[in-house]
Parts: sequence; structure tokens; C-alpha cells
Amino acid sequence: MHQIQCPWCGVRDEAEFQYQGDATKLRPKETASEADFFDYVYSRKNPKGWHVEWWHHVGGCRQWVKVVRNTVTHEIVASGGPQEKLAVPRSSKGGRK
Ligand SMILES: [Zn+2]
Repeated sequence: MHQIQCPWCGVRDEAEFQYQGDATKLRPKETASEADFFDYVYSRKNPKGWHVEWWHHVGGCRQWVKVVRNTVTHEIVASGGPQEKLAVPRSSKGGRK
């Protein structure tokens, strides 16, 4: 069982959270093209390595938590609130050595 540090509740089991997707996507401006909105809504990468993700603490405070997780090892190195800028390790594969 993985554990996630919720900024409001502390360390909790992953079962209390739901994965909500890529946290690096930014909503385009209102004047952006239809293609830009299509990309924002439907296009996602499937990265191997470190990834900044949204997790929803549905079994706790119901807040959205930003998490830096390695998609290979599932190691989590940082978490924070929606406005926080989290450091992402440089290694493309990352994970434990
Ligand atoms: Zn919480």
C-alpha cells in the first residue's frame, strides 16, 4: 500500500485517494483555438518516470493534492496543494537506486 502526504490531513493510505490525471496541463486562454482546447481536454502523454499528478482525497478532506510520482517505481517524492510548485527529480527514469 502506498502512502500519500496530504497537505491538510497528513500521511494517508493511497486507498483514500483517487487519481485525477496530469497536473501539468494548463487551461488555454479564452481566445485559444479549438485545437488548443481539444489538446487540453483529450491529449495526454503516458510518461515513463517522474510525473506531476492530481490526486483527490475523496476519503478524507476532499481537497485536490498535487503529487510527484514515478510511474515506474510508484515512488512519491513530493506533494502539496494545487498552487504549489513541486520539484521534479531530473532523472527520466527516477526511482530508487
Ligand atoms: Zn486530505
